[in-house]
Amino acid sequence: MDTVLFLSPVEPDGSLAKPGREALAAARALAQSLSAPLAVGLFGAAPGPAAQAVAGSGAARHLSVFGADFAAARYASDAAAAAALAKAAGATLVVAPHTSRVARVAAGVAHRLGGRVDTHLVAVSAADGKPAAARWFYRQRMEAVLARAQRPWVLLLDPGCVAPFEPQGSAPAFEAVVVTLGEAEKGTTVRGVRAPRSDAQTIRPDAKLLFVAGAGWTKKQADGAAHTADAERLILAFLGTSQASLGSSKSLVDQSVDGAKVLSFMSHLNQVGQTGATPRHPKGLATCCHGEEPHVVGWRFIAERRAVNLDANCGWARGKADVVYVADAFAVMEKVNALLAAKKG
Ligand SMILES: Cc1cc2nc3c(=O)[nH]c(=O)nc-3n(C[C@H](O)[C@H](O)[C@H](O)COP(=O)(O)OP(=O)(O)OC[C@H]3O[C@@H](n4cnc5c(N)ncnc54)[C@H](O)[C@@H]3O)c2cc1C
Repeated sequence: MDTVLFLSPVEPDGSLAKPGREALAAARALAQSLSAPLAVGLFGAAPGPAAQAVAGSGAARHLSVFGADFAAARYASDAAAAAALAKAAGATLVVAPHTSRVARVAAGVAHRLGGRVDTHLVAVSAADGKPAAARWFYRQRMEAVLARAQRPWVLLLDPGCVAPFEPQGSAPAFEAVVVTLGEAEKGTTVRGVRAPRSDAQTIRPDAKLLFVAGAGWTKKQADGAAHTADAERLILAFLGTSQASLGSSKSLVDQSVDGAKVLSFMSHLNQVGQTGATPRHPKGLATCCHGEEPHVVGWRFIAERRAVNLDANCGWARGKADVVYVADAFAVMEKVNALLAAKKG
């Protein structure tokens, strides 16, 4: 019989981040449908509020590797903690969130355990008493359901695919799993974290809206001139008040490589589409954007999609958006920004 382990690091403030709570919900549902025991395994500096976040999961065991050595993301200590927790739980199925911290060590952990790993999963389930995992291939065009005979099977669930676990009752007591790090494993010392200010980040996975900017923002407009500075001002003002996440077409981000005038805050990380990202937000608004890839692939997981384009015959906007406004995006966003500013007050 399988044993399911929910595995996650805790945040520096001791909380369990949303991707972790989503993976816990998936692990719990998997254990229930397999009639398999569930264990919870957390690692980090100290349990903190994460202990409360897993309350009422129905797990038979709660295991932890806590201590200052495990506070920061570091390959050697994270991999040692994760492997020790999986061994202590006797886990055959390990469900963890696909965050950068976990993804970095998951393959190494699976190797240490003599198991296998699958990443970027969108669902884990059970059919006929056997676990299965779903993921997309070919830039989200084909969905495959995977089964594996090898155990342990490490399953990394992409954020945003499952409703997060809602805790109930009081925090459980944790059994400590002892992991002793050698000098070599402590070789990397984390002296601190330098990150841009959070309002300087334009990629916001938890935003309600994805705002996709296309190359039209930098093209010559009706007066024969490009208005890139206006485009920057309008887009940044909108992102500031709406807290939307910023996506881009490939043509727009590639302009920096071509040496053309570009939007200074835009990078390839913003690109959506076949060779970009496929984010999941409840709503999307594409502006000055024609391309097939951003419309067909880039925002295929966006639930409600609207577009602003001067071209009434823009086939991809018409085919893939629920509503197309045939209008000048400069004028539309100026008005939207004024309305938002008035609302904010
Ligand atoms: C192998 C391959 C992979 C690719 N992968 C990707 C990918 O991952 N992501 C991606 O985006 N592309 C990708 N592309 C490129 C893609 O095919 C398109 O070329 C690109 O998406 C077009 O970008 P765009 O719509 O921003 O620009 P354009 O095609 O130049 O469209 C600009 C649009 O702006 C509109 N416009 C201009 N001014 C205004 C205004 N004032 N108000 C409103 N609308 C206005 C125009 O009507 C036009 O529709 C890929 C291509 C290939 C070959």
